[in-house]
Amino acid sequence: ASEAKANIGVVGLAVMGSNLARNLASREGNKVAVYNRTWSRTEEVVEAHPEAGFIAAKTIEEFAQSLSTPRTAIIMVKAGKATDAVIDQLVEVFEPGDIIVDGGNALFTDTIRREKAVRETGINFVGAGISGGEEGALNGPSIMPGGSEEAWHTLGPILKSIAAVAEGEPCVTHVGTDGAGHFVKMIHNGIEYADMQLIAEAYDLLRKAAGMTPAEIAGVFEEWNKGELESYLIEITAEVLRQVDAATGKPFIDIVLDQAGSKGTGVWTVQTSLDLGVPVSGIAEAVFARSLSAHPRQRAAASDLPGPSAPPAVSSSDRDAFIEDVRQALYASKIIAYSQGFDAIIAGAEEYGWDIKKGDIAKIWRAGCIIRAQFLNRIAESYAEHPDLEVLVAAPYFAEAVSRTQEAWRRVVIHAVAAGVPTPAFSSSLAYYDGLRAERLPAALVQGQRDFFGAHTYKRVDRDGTFHTLWSGDR
Ligand code: NAP
Repeated sequence: ASEAKANIGVVGLAVMGSNLARNLASREGNKVAVYNRTWSRTEEVVEAHPEAGFIAAKTIEEFAQSLSTPRTAIIMVKAGKATDAVIDQLVEVFEPGDIIVDGGNALFTDTIRREKAVRETGINFVGAGISGGEEGALNGPSIMPGGSEEAWHTLGPILKSIAAVAEGEPCVTHVGTDGAGHFVKMIHNGIEYADMQLIAEAYDLLRKAAGMTPAEIAGVFEEWNKGELESYLIEITAEVLRQVDAATGKPFIDIVLDQAGSKGTGVWTVQTSLDLGVPVSGIAEAVFARSLSAHPRQRAAASDLPGPSAPPAVSSSDRDAFIEDVRQALYASKIIAYSQGFDAIIAGAEEYGWDIKKGDIAKIWRAGCIIRAQFLNRIAESYAEHPDLEVLVAAPYFAEAVSRTQEAWRRVVIHAVAAGVPTPAFSSSLAYYDGLRAERLPAALVQGQRDFFGAHTYKRVDRDGTFHTLWSGDR
């Protein structure tokens, strides 16, 4: 072993871990120790990046010895059993006061469980959501760490040094204790699903209802990226639509099988939100839309079912107005998706006892991650002005935006329904908006039905207490 010890270590040297290790090594003052279960991979990474000056450890014991105390190690292995296996190994060779960080995509409830178990040994455990894929890991991700204040004290400066930077501020903050970081990372991914689905619906409308070509639509997205929709996802959408398949000369979008895959974080977000009683309809519709797409046999069986007999046409003279309507509908629906995502954060924080600063979350998503966008500044400002905002869409900035766009939003949903173009996220976001702002909801009727058949009781608008009516239909 060399005399110079490392101040930080990385366990797991697949694409994410090796890139994160290189990012760490490139920052002033860092010396990075690396360990991977399979030694040949460690050799490969160390040989390919001599500039990083890695300390390569063959065994987990060597890895622990190569770190200065208190030891800090970031795990970047396959989420699930592999993470537990590596934690068990590290706990054996680490000492009280050391810090184990899990940077993988762990389910937040696993992180809560692991933090509790590791804490009993006196070692700190931090679940940190890391967003931005391989590119982010190498050049600056958005980082969402949970864990104790004590661990954050040591870890904060290291994470700040490698995180993406937005308007001079590093995209990392101590989200909350134990699983808070992985929880917020999960919601980030859920919002990402909704954002992608909304963009896909806008594309589908321009393609099918307005008859535009992929290249024309790419131009529309490029325009949109100059305004209030400016974001990484809009930017890459334009590039995907511009792409031409080298083998066939066709638009790339037309040679891709239309069955969307997923790795499950969208499903986690919806499952968790269902448990918390939070209507994340935009995210749920995005997950369902992917599921629907991935059922080719059902789709084939239904492919002859009728659509509208007289679908409305967008004439060339109406096209620009239609495009602008779709842009506004996309913006309004996006506001709802983010508002719902922040609702889930608020509910999770309450359920698990986390003190999550919503504005800080919006800020660390401004760069490094997939949903990075200008828009997040508006969310941060809204929470800065109104920290106890009940619901994001009611913040003055967003309330104004929705009142300005809601007529277009309605026209687009009406058009989509009449034309038979599926827009589940646009439509459900609008339905959510109308439900949220309604003075009275038909939930009153549902309560009546529940009391009728199940004596579930109800409350009255004019008196305190719980009531049950003796319905004539009883027995
Ligand atoms: P990965 O394919 O998920 O995992 C491969 C790594 O895990 C290898 O280093 C492998 O070691 C190690 N590993 C697997 N089973 C192990 C075990 N039982 N014990 C010890 N090590 C084990 O790698 P990745 O794609 O780089 O992802 C790493 C983590 O980052 C994952 O949790 C993933 O979900 C997350 N991730 C995040 C993003 C993002 O955008 N934030 C993107 C991709 C991945 P061997 O070489 O010995 O097999």
